[in-house]
Amino acid sequence: MDRAELTSYAYRKLRARILATSDVCILCGHGSADAVDHVISVKRGGPRLDPGNLAPIHGDNGCPTCLRKCNREKSDKPLSEVKHLITSRDWYSGP
Ligand SMILES: [Zn+2]
Ligand SMILES: [Zn+2]
Repeated sequence: MDRAELTSYAYRKLRARILATSDVCILCGHGSADAVDHVISVKRGGPRLDPGNLAPIHGDNGCPTCLRKCNREKSDKPLSEVKHLITSRDWYSGP
């Protein structure tokens, strides 16, 4: 998302609406998400201001639980790609 878009009135209104419904991050699955991102990035043809294409995600402050910067990690990759990378790693088992 570019900067102008992030600060636009329409975007802020949508973000408030989406975060009021849920603050569970689409990427890491933890709560306290403070931003929203396009599920299908606009670059890849996703609708820009469709609430159905926007979901909660951790922004620049990162996730308080796992400390990842989910929005930065996702960037404009398809969600399935990023999620696949995460779930393919087993965080809870030792070496
Ligand atoms: Zn997250
Ligand atoms: Zn997290």
